[in-house]
Amino acid sequence: MSELIPDQTTKLLPDYIDKLTAYSSAKSEKLTGTTWLNANENPYVKNITLSVDNLNRYPEPQPEDVISRYANYAQVNTNQVLMTRGADEGIELLIRTFCRSRKDSITIFLPTYGMYKVSAQSHNVGLNSLTQDDLQTSTISQLVEKIGHSKLVFICNPNNPTGALVGTKRIEMLSDALPTNAILVIDEAYIEFCSDYSSTKLINNNRNIVVLRTLSKAFALAGLRCGFTLASPIILAAIKKVLAPYPVSTVVALIAKNALVNDAITSMRRQVNILNKLKLELIDWLDSSPQVDKVLVGSGNFVTLKLKSAEYIQVASEIGLIMRPLNLFDSDTWLRISIGSNTELAQVKIWLNTINNNNFSSKR
Ligand SMILES: *Cc1c(COP(=O)(O)O)cnc(C)c1O
Repeated sequence: MSELIPDQTTKLLPDYIDKLTAYSSAKSEKLTGTTWLNANENPYVKNITLSVDNLNRYPEPQPEDVISRYANYAQVNTNQVLMTRGADEGIELLIRTFCRSRKDSITIFLPTYGMYKVSAQSHNVGLNSLTQDDLQTSTISQLVEKIGHSKLVFICNPNNPTGALVGTKRIEMLSDALPTNAILVIDEAYIEFCSDYSSTKLINNNRNIVVLRTLSKAFALAGLRCGFTLASPIILAAIKKVLAPYPVSTVVALIAKNALVNDAITSMRRQVNILNKLKLELIDWLDSSPQVDKVLVGSGNFVTLKLKSAEYIQVASEIGLIMRPLNLFDSDTWLRISIGSNTELAQVKIWLNTINNNNFSSKR
């Protein structure tokens, strides 16, 4: 029998794959809970009924009506839109298209979204790790120097998990100052929650800017796996060289198309307003909670805060409340809470009140 045993499988692996650990997303851990505020999902549920009769055929590689509706929504041209399996595939495609393994690097600003690092490492591409502080406070020429020869510069805007924003003017200046062999990738997964800050107006004139978008957050379709890469046709033509032949399923295209009609966009915007209001209320409340050390006032559908003790998180899971613990700035007392429904956020208040009433810290 020629069965692969684990040890031999390892021998087949390139060393840079062997040393990786699979990405642990908010959803991959088998947690049990009743209130899910750990993955920045949207609490609004869509009930979709489908009738599809052409699944014997391959889908359109880039479904025309979805592309044109998204272009219309984002106010860009249709030849500046590429549809992908979530924004995550956009990240991966950019790295595969522009970076040579073992030679090139990407720049990231920590703490930030984990997939940039994961995608870079799985293609044996280097990481130039700068900080959010570098991004916010360095002069443009200092930044250019720190970015060095990186091919791609990932700016998560607003940033997950700090919620921090970079102004469009600063992005434009950085794009102008960067040598032509680097591309700025602006990850706008949460941009609907602060839409004035979008960089899409900068992608014209073949500028070295790519904007990543998704239907996972404000559009409440995380399960659909649908994202968009917005850039000049020259950049998109390069990415299409490595794109799978049929990346978007017929079913995904159909649902995405319906999610982008005017009525659906209007209702998405109304929901975003409600979630933004709930976020402000939560921030106010957290600010006055004795268990909370610090609240980062950010621009996504989440709030990131520092607790007085990491043990409080255990109490939350005991009552079925699942949030995202984070290790930030050398401390494990950070927590990211997604903005759920009113009822879900009430659980957060119950949780901290419980700790208050039990005089928790003196008992354990
Ligand atoms: C959620 C998230 C994504 C992933 O989007 P998908 O379209 O679901 O792949 C990308 N970037 C950031 C910053 C995110 O928080």
